[in-house]
Amino acid sequence: MTSADNRRDVRAGHRNGGGTVKGLIRKVYSPHPSLNDSLEGDIQAFLIDEDQLHTYDDLTKVNPVTPTTVLKCLQARYSVNVFYTHAGCTLVALNPFQPIPDLYSLDVMKEYHCASQPQQEFKPHIFIVAEEAYRNVQGQLEPVNQSLVVSGESGAGKTWTSRCLMKYYATVAAASSVLKSQDTVERIERRVLDSNPIMEAFGNACTLRNNNSSRFGKYIQLQLDRYQLLVGASVQTYLLEKTRVACQPANERNFHIFYQMMKGATDEQRREWKMPHGQRFVWLPNSEKTVEEDSFHETLDAMVCLAINAERQRQLFRILAGILQLGNVNFSSSNDDSQPCNLDEQSQDFLQRAAELLCVPADELHMCLKVRMLKAGKQSVLKPCSQAECSMRRDCLAKVIYAQLFEWLVTFINNSICADKSIWCNFIGVLDVYGFERFQINNLEQLCINYANEKLQQHFVAHYLRAQQEEYVSEGLRWSFVKYQDNQSCLDLLEGSPVSVFSLLNEESRLNRASDAKTLRVRLEKELHDNANISWDKFSKEPHFTVAHYAGKVNYQIQGMVEKNKDPVPPEVVNLLQKSDNSLLHQIFSDKETESQTSKGLSKVTVVSKFKNSLESLMRILHTTTPHYTRCIKPNPDCKPLTFKKEEVIMQLEACGIVETIHISAAGFPIRIPFKGFMHRYGLIAKYSNFKSGRHCVADSDNLLRQDVEKLLNLVLQHEAFDPLHNRDSEKHNSWVHCGRTKVFLTQSMLDLLEDQRKKIL
Ligand code: ADP
Ligand code: MG
Repeated sequence: MTSADNRRDVRAGHRNGGGTVKGLIRKVYSPHPSLNDSLEGDIQAFLIDEDQLHTYDDLTKVNPVTPTTVLKCLQARYSVNVFYTHAGCTLVALNPFQPIPDLYSLDVMKEYHCASQPQQEFKPHIFIVAEEAYRNVQGQLEPVNQSLVVSGESGAGKTWTSRCLMKYYATVAAASSVLKSQDTVERIERRVLDSNPIMEAFGNACTLRNNNSSRFGKYIQLQLDRYQLLVGASVQTYLLEKTRVACQPANERNFHIFYQMMKGATDEQRREWKMPHGQRFVWLPNSEKTVEEDSFHETLDAMVCLAINAERQRQLFRILAGILQLGNVNFSSSNDDSQPCNLDEQSQDFLQRAAELLCVPADELHMCLKVRMLKAGKQSVLKPCSQAECSMRRDCLAKVIYAQLFEWLVTFINNSICADKSIWCNFIGVLDVYGFERFQINNLEQLCINYANEKLQQHFVAHYLRAQQEEYVSEGLRWSFVKYQDNQSCLDLLEGSPVSVFSLLNEESRLNRASDAKTLRVRLEKELHDNANISWDKFSKEPHFTVAHYAGKVNYQIQGMVEKNKDPVPPEVVNLLQKSDNSLLHQIFSDKETESQTSKGLSKVTVVSKFKNSLESLMRILHTTTPHYTRCIKPNPDCKPLTFKKEEVIMQLEACGIVETIHISAAGFPIRIPFKGFMHRYGLIAKYSNFKSGRHCVADSDNLLRQDVEKLLNLVLQHEAFDPLHNRDSEKHNSWVHCGRTKVFLTQSMLDLLEDQRKKIL
């Protein structure tokens, strides 16, 4: 079937909906079951087309648009290996879970890049979104920065998609060496791409949901010069899951880099890193599992490309090896509280090795793990730590080193790939952040992640749904308002002022009092009970609260939340690391303030407030750009190739608001063209076409009035209606177009019609 046939079919589907635009909206969206029953006829008509479902490139053209029909359409497409489908302004990407030959080849990139009108002529593809953003940068009036927001649950394909986008720009925006030597140009694109394997080695891990799960969020800005060439990039990262360094959930692994070292080390490196063959490391579980991402040489190659020199690499790997040794240090409890915990012989060895690799004195490392310094006025008192406290300090040491190292790496990468501000003028941002999470047990990490998703959902709603409706109103179109889920009250609950979950959590974190879980539970209920988005299970024994997120309810455990929010780093630990002879370790801690250096710890930044700040600055950037949304869908929970589980997919479609978007886009006019632009493109139809009505309409270029546009539209529609070949019903066409105050609103079908007419003339 050709794409033209395909479009005709889609139109046929559209016609079946019938009625005026207003009627259509009411029919499809009515919350009343009785009205929905009247859809049965439409469903019948639709079902006749069932064997053609896979040909529907845009979910908004499926008629009627219901979660069921949309799901069937996606399933039909998936079954014939079609993974991308438009949903109005959003692209839905289903994960095939197996490499698809030639789907992303250079030839395909070129095809999409060189197309005169990619949106209409080509099958849905991530490259359409990429190309649209690329063309949009050179806006009609002034250049507009773009953002590609890629969302979806873990394993849905966000990181894969982001990589595809980066490769696309590194290819199509590659300089044809007009300004620079080929050598420099290649280096820039390579470097930008090579930042991926490094960040994934340090920030990704094998989880139950995804063998290459990103444990951090990422916003990468691809910088373009005035010739639209890729001249650099910058990366911002969010909320690395650093607890994974010292504590890996059952059947999951630590960050890839540790396994890469373990598996890829030369004998010499093994000696240097004190990692003999067969040595088991507690913090390296499931190392027998081999994944594609275990390739050490790829990370090393990328490091070379980004100019991380041999000495820096050596220091970096020694630090990582030191962390692994720390994990094997165990403390045994001492019977006497006034005495520090002991280390058995083996643990002493590991501690010694860790100290050597981290280049700090072993006795000081030992002391800093087992003894706490308390300040009483000007005097300091040393207090032995309990066994649990010692382990906590050990974990804390590993986490803080890893997190600082990751931060250093990101800064290094930025220095290596970021172009000078005088060179680049626009950017295309690619956002790859963790999707909504709801586990058996949810804590601060999930609260932050879900908060980020609420923010992004609000941005999405604001941009597409609300903006669309508001524009209709301001243009004087009649519109039955579609009820969309506004998540403002959930955001108020989480971050609002004066009181919110975050403000209470921060207060409790600063107060430093005992039994904080229960206190927080009581305060949450007392101060936030007015907000309908929070609730409590009266029968639950554990202190918790439940938040009704836009994507569903999540139960958060309060135990441990305050402590996690404080994220304390003992000052002794920082002091020790500042003294390290490993110059990298010394450097990454040199400007870190210890708790005792800040004013009584009160100004200490909590995890939540840090995250909120970085997210707010991200949102500020997003608001200045034109967004493009790609929703990645994981078709089955087991990452099985080409397996489509309906229940899984529908849950995700609902969770990301796709169902609502589909409704609105389908019911409305997805295409709007200002009168001037419209006449510019289609004025010639009136001028040159000899319509059967025998009338001519000459659009006066100086008088770009609404009447001209209306006259032209009438002519085109009349022509269509009386054309015996098409024999379309003019009644229906009225729902294809509407003139607002300043622009024409069109459905895709109307646009196709105009384009057909235009082509005939050209
Ligand atoms: P997320 O970042 O959303 O957690 P990933 O992008 O890491 O998920 O994707 C998980 C896995 O799914 C990848 O490692 C890859 O094997 C597979 N995958 C994702 N998208 C595609 C695709 N378009 N084609 C083939 N395989 C894919
Ligand atoms: Mg990912």
